[in-house]
Amino acid sequence: MNVAPEISQSSNQAVEHFDVLIVGAGISGIDAAYHLQQSCPDKSFAMLENQESFGGTWLTHKYPGIRSDSDLFTFGFGWKPWKGVPIATAEEILVYLDEALDEQDIRKHIRFQHQITNAIWSSEDKQWTLVVSRKDTGEVLHYTCNFLWMCQGYYRHSEGYTPDFPGADRFQGEIVHPQTWPEDLDYKGKKVIVIGSGATAATVIPAMAEDVEHITMLQRSPTFFNAGENRMDVAEMLRELDVPDEWTHEIARRKILFDQKIITERSFTDSDKLKSELIAGTKAYLDDDFDVETHFTPSYRPWRQRIAFVPNGDLFTGIKSGKASVVTDHIDTFTETGILLKSGQELEADIIITATGFNLSALGDIEFTIDEKPLNFADCWTHRGIMFSGVPNMAWVFGYLRTSWTMRADLVGTFVCRLLDHMSDKGVEMVTPELREEDKGMNARPFIDPENFNAGYIMRQIHILPKQGNQDPWIHTQDYYTDKDTLPNADLDDGTLIYR
Ligand SMILES: Cc1cc2nc3c(=O)[nH]c(=O)nc-3n(C[C@H](O)[C@H](O)[C@H](O)COP(=O)(O)OP(=O)(O)OC[C@H]3O[C@@H](n4cnc5c(N)ncnc54)[C@H](O)[C@@H]3O)c2cc1C
Repeated sequence: MNVAPEISQSSNQAVEHFDVLIVGAGISGIDAAYHLQQSCPDKSFAMLENQESFGGTWLTHKYPGIRSDSDLFTFGFGWKPWKGVPIATAEEILVYLDEALDEQDIRKHIRFQHQITNAIWSSEDKQWTLVVSRKDTGEVLHYTCNFLWMCQGYYRHSEGYTPDFPGADRFQGEIVHPQTWPEDLDYKGKKVIVIGSGATAATVIPAMAEDVEHITMLQRSPTFFNAGENRMDVAEMLRELDVPDEWTHEIARRKILFDQKIITERSFTDSDKLKSELIAGTKAYLDDDFDVETHFTPSYRPWRQRIAFVPNGDLFTGIKSGKASVVTDHIDTFTETGILLKSGQELEADIIITATGFNLSALGDIEFTIDEKPLNFADCWTHRGIMFSGVPNMAWVFGYLRTSWTMRADLVGTFVCRLLDHMSDKGVEMVTPELREEDKGMNARPFIDPENFNAGYIMRQIHILPKQGNQDPWIHTQDYYTDKDTLPNADLDDGTLIYR
């Protein structure tokens, strides 16, 4: 059970207080800091980050070829133009974030190697106390704040998800999860199997194909891919015309969001035709006799899982070259030398890469306590997918899963700053989402509606996330096109936010 630790003041470090503490220095944390500086310049804040540097996902993932699968016009910030090609490597994203930290003078606010272990709310003091363990010195520190802005992402960085594969301990080669990639892994001239066919598999396979003897993508069932050139014509044209970068960025964003809206709508209204078009896009890169029906024809409607973009069709050109191949089958058991499939086929391998996803982590593995009671996050109702019933002075940036994550981080940034200003105007220090009479008895639905989006990494652990209701503001739409109009205008006095 989750028990709040004693807060001892015996540490020789005084308890530091901030108006706002931001958890995490990834894309969302940096965006939150930007919004605070711009819209609430009087608020003091710090960012606590357990890694030794900034970037979150783009710092911790080291597998070959690591890149975004969203375009950086929308995955980048609205306030900092992206000047490269749409799909970017982790290194390029880190350079972009590094520049953002300098340009906005945010770096001085970050405390690295600060792992938050407990968040303790006191209604009497109207503040949070965070228990922080310093990874470099081993010290335990305490911070207090009025408002907690959770930008800790949604999965556990330390360890990826690997199913229990039968016979895994028999395998004599190396088993590697992309999330904990050994820097010295030597795959030159080796036979490699990649289990999975999501964005990670689609990235790692072309990146390794040239060096290995052979690499096999082993999937249980096919997924959708969207193959195309890694360039954006509109942005290229505007750049040729010497249009300022800010304009190019904004126009490219609008064009991409416009096109994505059409695709999303078509995934519901015209899904068969969209499916055929996506499959035709894949076919175009493969030999005429390639069995697209078996390997690249998913059984589900497009967009119910993220569609991985394959820049320049590199996954398919790898397959066409013969260096990579795809097998669609179920694993019977790992053997000493590879994997035996249910069909009886045996695949040989020196290295098996388990591109099988990550472990969801709701609140950065932090133990939360509200007025001495342990918080079970799954019991809460979400308020607009940002705040949570019964949890005072806290917001979480959970970005979009289809549209770029950052598009939501930006909207949440504006919402939180508006809320903080509203609290100052009212002269209150505490805000808690609470169900009104008319909200009691709402039907509970999962935080992410599986009818809408049902990726395995979410569905596996959806039970640890809060629930959503069936009426506003207890709905988490996951729809940028709705949120862009509703969030900036959300009524902060609709009776669901209780101020004290
Ligand atoms: C390989 C990969 C590729 C992806 N590509 C895309 C993409 O192309 N487009 C897209 O929209 N999304 C993508 N995503 C989803 C991605 O996680 C987000 O888009 C985005 O990077 C999340 O940013 P974030 O800052 O919210 O979280 P993160 O990047 O997860 O950063 C959170 C930070 O918080 C820190 N933290 C967590 N808990 C604690 C704690 N208790 N104490 C202190 N610090 C803590 C972490 O160390 C981390 O640095 C991808 C995810 C992965 C894994």
